[in-house]
Amino acid sequence: MTSAVDAKQGVQVMTPQDINIQVAKQLADLVRSTLGPYGMDKEMVDASGEVVITNDGAAILKETKLNHPTAKIITEVARTQEENCYDGTTSSIVITGELMDKAKDLTKKKVHPTRVSKGYVLANNKAQELLHDIAIDVDDDLLLSVASTAMTGKSAEAAQDVLAQIALDVIKSTTLDNINIIKRPNGKVGDSVAIAGLLIDREKMTHDMPNEVKDAKIALISVDITLPEFAQQLQIQVSDNTAVQEFIESRKLQLKEIADVIIASGANVVLCKRDIDPFVAEIFAQKGVYACRRVAMSDMESISRAGEGRMVSSIDGIKEADLATAELLEEITVGERPLIKLTGTPSKGAVSVLLRAPTHTTVEEIGRAFDDAVGVVSVALDSGKVVGGGGSPYLYLSKHLKDFASTVSGREQLAVEAFAQALEIIPAALAENSGLDPLDTLISLRQLHSDAAGHSFGVDVENGGGVNMLENGIVEPINVVSQALDSATTIAAQLLRIDNIIEMRTGPEIGEDGFNY
Ligand code: ADP
Ligand code: MG
Repeated sequence: MTSAVDAKQGVQVMTPQDINIQVAKQLADLVRSTLGPYGMDKEMVDASGEVVITNDGAAILKETKLNHPTAKIITEVARTQEENCYDGTTSSIVITGELMDKAKDLTKKKVHPTRVSKGYVLANNKAQELLHDIAIDVDDDLLLSVASTAMTGKSAEAAQDVLAQIALDVIKSTTLDNINIIKRPNGKVGDSVAIAGLLIDREKMTHDMPNEVKDAKIALISVDITLPEFAQQLQIQVSDNTAVQEFIESRKLQLKEIADVIIASGANVVLCKRDIDPFVAEIFAQKGVYACRRVAMSDMESISRAGEGRMVSSIDGIKEADLATAELLEEITVGERPLIKLTGTPSKGAVSVLLRAPTHTTVEEIGRAFDDAVGVVSVALDSGKVVGGGGSPYLYLSKHLKDFASTVSGREQLAVEAFAQALEIIPAALAENSGLDPLDTLISLRQLHSDAAGHSFGVDVENGGGVNMLENGIVEPINVVSQALDSATTIAAQLLRIDNIIEMRTGPEIGEDGFNY
């Protein structure tokens, strides 16, 4: 719909579609410069002043303060993409923005937004079909390439081969939810390793606890290991010296009982999600028990799963059957700080990856890149199919959708054409971000694609023009592309159908306390 002009005030009155288009375009512009191997990083600063450097579309949108409801809907595209495919978030947002921008041209030509939205859905359905024609079956080499491609442009690039190999190894040896990733700065990326077993980013509570425990029997305790009503007990008359002494003694006795109950279960390792009283820790140390406090919930869960133990929320009833086990628990030192390493757990499959990088910021960024790589490799393995990268599938689809458009009747035909053109934004942005002329690059790529054998040609980011992506090992799981198209289409179609943005009420619902009309 065209923007109306309020004659009296001479102000542009924007329709909801205009606003949606503008917001989508702005978000797309925000992330577009990060696309591809030469994409720029964004430095984001959060409310507490913490700096995040990233070129990950989802991460950027997550860290950006977005208040407009449409912006939140569009951010969903990146979230869905991230959840399903671990990659392609920037692409999905860029395509959404371009679909909305093309819709603007169509609505100016008086094509009704619902027609545009229908045409987009038609085009996407056809695209999904076409995509399968250029997909190829995966093998190990292609999977390594998938991992490397997913990491291009991130700080992980320097050690892509090492990280790609680790990603492939771990995915082949276990499932995604059995992989735990530990990040440590002050090291080289090339020193990153995968180990069979669990690494936990914690250390023993006191120095006199053992450094290793063979045949570890691990109590997993989710509550504080201390006296429950400590605060109330403190309110005794402190004027009386003997009373204080008695109080301290009785408290120690009770704490000793707690320690004894835990040790009596057969535990020689105590991992606590909360705090451990120092006196209890002292007893543990005397008895050669390894204890550690403030263990992350996710680690407690991994240990419980791998060690086949049960996390307990009451110390009283703890028994041998609750204990997780491992052949060996040891404390190792990596990058100046210790880590707990657990190996030989009854349930195999737990794998840890220790990622190293020079600084905190780089190790975090590498963590995100590696996360993507592992996820993407698993996605590629699941579907068993990959396509070329560098924008090649989008060029192939664009060409064939233009042909398909002529078979579509009604004004939807224009929308299918617009959809086809919109897809060229990916190779164009890849070219632009690599310092190439996007138009010249598109022209030579279209030429290459005019030959059926040219379908895997994408942007040669090093030399300009086009290059065969499959031959250069730049590949992506088919799902990354199909999901990006699917979610961009769904959201664009949905936004185009909206003709009113109504703020919903917040606060109590009808029938709830405090509700008033
Ligand atoms: P996204 O969040 O969409 O994954 P990226 O910044 O990771 O964004 O860029 C991904 C795009 O970059 C994909 O289209 C991918 O094929 C392309 N790409 C990656 N490496 C290369 C390369 N060496 N040459 C050309 N294109 C590449
Ligand atoms: Mg990517």
